[in-house]
Amino acid sequence: MNGLGEPQAIKVHRLIVVGQGAAGLCAAVSAMTSAHASGVDLSVTLLDAAPLADSGGNSRWSPSNIRLQADHHVAPGFVDEVVAESGGLADRDYFQQLADQAPAMADWLVSLGVVFQSPPYYLAKGPARIQPVGGGAALLNALLARARDLGIALVDEFSLTQLLGDDVCVTGVVGTDAQGQTQTHHADAVVLACGGFQGNAAMRKQHLGAAAENYRLISQGTAYNDGAGIRAALAIGAQAAGDWCTGHAEPVDPRSQNSAPVVLVYPYGVVVDAQGQRFFDEGAGLMHETWERFAHQMQFELPGQQAYVILDAKLLNIADYARAIRSDVPPISAPTLEALAQALGLPLAALMDTIAAFNAACPDDQHSFDPTVKDGLTSTPVGQVPKSNWARPIDQSPFLAWPLVGALVYTFGGLKTNANAQVLSVKGPICGLYAAGEITGHFYQLAPNSVAMLRALVFGKIAGEQVVRDLLAGHAV
Ligand SMILES: Cc1cc2nc3c(=O)[nH]c(=O)nc-3n(C[C@H](O)[C@H](O)[C@H](O)COP(=O)(O)OP(=O)(O)OC[C@H]3O[C@@H](n4cnc5c(N)ncnc54)[C@H](O)[C@@H]3O)c2cc1C
Repeated sequence: MNGLGEPQAIKVHRLIVVGQGAAGLCAAVSAMTSAHASGVDLSVTLLDAAPLADSGGNSRWSPSNIRLQADHHVAPGFVDEVVAESGGLADRDYFQQLADQAPAMADWLVSLGVVFQSPPYYLAKGPARIQPVGGGAALLNALLARARDLGIALVDEFSLTQLLGDDVCVTGVVGTDAQGQTQTHHADAVVLACGGFQGNAAMRKQHLGAAAENYRLISQGTAYNDGAGIRAALAIGAQAAGDWCTGHAEPVDPRSQNSAPVVLVYPYGVVVDAQGQRFFDEGAGLMHETWERFAHQMQFELPGQQAYVILDAKLLNIADYARAIRSDVPPISAPTLEALAQALGLPLAALMDTIAAFNAACPDDQHSFDPTVKDGLTSTPVGQVPKSNWARPIDQSPFLAWPLVGALVYTFGGLKTNANAQVLSVKGPICGLYAAGEITGHFYQLAPNSVAMLRALVFGKIAGEQVVRDLLAGHAV
């Protein structure tokens, strides 16, 4: 009651979350849950550019390998490793927060019905990972069900174009709806979770280079992430961070139109370009240590932007080799290398010379061959790049080949955020503006393995909780 005996109007705070992938859903659900727990009256609206059935961006198509141990903790040394992989450029406080908050995030998802398993990872051994049973789609479904239970409003086909506010404070969003009409949503807080700029050809060209303009996108959902959220935040004075020149990419079979038709058996064969020449050390590291550079090398350095992995019958004896092939199109197979060269349209003499020189430089003793670890079997053919591991002669019929191109998954350049998911301007955290997931710039040089989904989940949850903390502290608009 106020002094006049009238009932006081209860302030309903309004949160807008942009992007209905893993980061956005975590933010919306955690904000509403925290608001209920702390008595804050909050309405949450989740906006997405895609029609509802297609929303979820990359998250929907992601197998969602998450770099956590079965007990939901990161492995010892995680923060040091990730910072080292970034060439020392990554924000240690951000990754320490990721490590500290990951167990609570995973336990929370389990409480929402997500079931995690510890998956075998392609063929090579790597860091410990967990994965939601059913992948990203199952993760989104569990979060969506909770969002609906909590009364969160889902608005689809709304494309964010602009933020209301400045580098001190944000008060809402502007965008276009399905009819192309401009719509404005005023809000006390805005969480941006609308992905990187991989779906925007002009931004790819501008930041990654001219050869990135026609980069294939790895899945259907990837195209929605057109960088509009990043541009809108930069326009009001948010700071940029992350490596704007690159992103994560993987080698896929160009004949397949499926999501992520990766072919990851290249470490066990040789890779040649359209002239039949090797150009890259197929065995430089475990698959997940080389796939990103390999994909970029095809896209940026090869005329025609396509290569071919050549293998022989020994592939078929590697246990579970098919786990590393997600293309639905069978390999090109031939009884002889000559016939294979003809089927691929590769110059016969050049390919035969390449394979002969490679075979001649392979070690005679092949007993130490082990596809799961760097086995030290090295070939250093005259006039070619070396192959540092898994070097076995290509000499047993049938001979097999897959064409390969690079496919872009997400970009690294984005918004500067702190360990509380607040977006930063040069003046400090921008009041009422938060960001999580791919839209934030925290990766440099190479993508840390199985961290993209982890950061979307952890910082989405943190963003939602921080919104409510700030509303309680009176910091919101
Ligand atoms: C095939 C594939 C495999 C992957 N495998 C792994 C893996 O094993 N491990 C791992 O860690 N990571 C993996 N990733 C990457 C990881 O899944 C993503 O980085 C993560 O899901 C991103 O989540 P997000 O919420 O930030 O963005 P997204 O899930 O992409 O969601 C962004 C949402 O924003 C919406 N949007 C975009 N622009 C606008 C706009 N202007 N207005 C309104 N809405 C907009 C989109 O429609 C989308 O729904 C993979 C990705 C793919 C595609």
